[in-house]
Amino acid sequence: MKVLVINCGSSSLKYQLLDMTYKSVLAQGLVERIGISGSQLTHKRGDLKKVILGGLSSHSEAISLVLESLTNPKYGVIGNLQEISAVGHRVVHGGEKYASSVLIDDAVIQAIGKYVELAPLHTPKNIDGIKACEKIMPGVPQVAVFDTAFHQTMPPKAFLYGLPYELYEKYKIRKYGFHGTSHKYVSMIAVEMLGKPLSESKIITCHLGNGSSIAAVKGGKSIETSMGFTPLEGLLMGTRSGSLDPAVVTFIMDKEKLSADQVNDYLNKKSGVLGISGVSSDFRDIEAAASQGNLRAQLALNMFAYVVKHYIGAYASVLNGVDAIVFTAGLGENSISMREEIMRDLDYLGAEIDPVKNNVRGKQVDVSKDGAACRVLVIPTNEELMIAQETVDIVRCSFNASKGRTFCAS
Ligand code: ADP
Repeated sequence: MKVLVINCGSSSLKYQLLDMTYKSVLAQGLVERIGISGSQLTHKRGDLKKVILGGLSSHSEAISLVLESLTNPKYGVIGNLQEISAVGHRVVHGGEKYASSVLIDDAVIQAIGKYVELAPLHTPKNIDGIKACEKIMPGVPQVAVFDTAFHQTMPPKAFLYGLPYELYEKYKIRKYGFHGTSHKYVSMIAVEMLGKPLSESKIITCHLGNGSSIAAVKGGKSIETSMGFTPLEGLLMGTRSGSLDPAVVTFIMDKEKLSADQVNDYLNKKSGVLGISGVSSDFRDIEAAASQGNLRAQLALNMFAYVVKHYIGAYASVLNGVDAIVFTAGLGENSISMREEIMRDLDYLGAEIDPVKNNVRGKQVDVSKDGAACRVLVIPTNEELMIAQETVDIVRCSFNASKGRTFCAS
């Protein structure tokens, strides 16, 4: 069964075509600068790379080009579109309605449309992508896999803010959490690595990339996470401030004469480790600058490690202990020094890194000291595979339901 995974960002589109019989990637690619001058598609099939330049004005044009590339006689991987059995879409927001992935129909598209206000940059693009696939591949089942769904198991005491309850009732202002597909994927792998029953597992997953978030996963369910109403809350990130005293926001607006949109921009695009270091939002650049003695770059790294440690401590307490701390995403998988700094002085949790084992990038490895009670795991995330797997499960389940069978994969 071949599944196409589509991930529409605000001006980009990532895709992968997977053969789910072997869980292998047949082709993948990225369309950049959609709706901006200089748009291009980079398509990869194994070692073969093809770059196609094209004035792509919308996500639906981008999808047409992706499908053309997949079926291209020279660099494509399928003879025709009928070979694609299903499409899985990464959808950023599922609000309170979706606690799991769902087969897309008109009602689902309408429901997703209600979350434009909560994720204005991504939701309209997600809908464009779904509609374009429906048009070009009518009848091919499409599944929405939500970034927020995994965190819908958080209890009200964790997801509500200390605001008048009416604001939650009126506007659904609450913590939703993001990166759910990644937290779910790596926590599942962690349980396998631990060899412990899922129901007894207590795991802290640290998704550390450009955008970063941490989750507390108990018995396979997210019970707390650091991102909130939007992906701005929580850790300091590449360009995002993370959590701060809300009074700072109105103070900056007043002093810097900023509108609501401008201050939003300030907190989302000019803050975080970029704002502190003054060097870059990219951790590789910041690590390089710090190693050459740039004190603000070093401060940004220290602040980042400190806030991650802060959440690990909080979540160990929420979980009443922790079996494993997982590092994933660009920084978590690759930065040896950042993992070391975060894990320093967490031996009170029974967690200690082995410096030799920790000398690893982008591989699934247990980097804990022998005998440590709490394991430290590096697990490369694979959101595309997770989306494809959920797509297969949902499509099989609905097929079974249509035949009157009750079996559904969980
Ligand atoms: P996103 O998907 O949120 O854009 P990624 O998960 O790709 O982000 O992570 C990107 C971050 O990971 C960048 O800040 C990058 O510098 C960092 N990163 C990638 N490789 C390394 C490395 N070898 N050492 C340190 N940081 C790295």
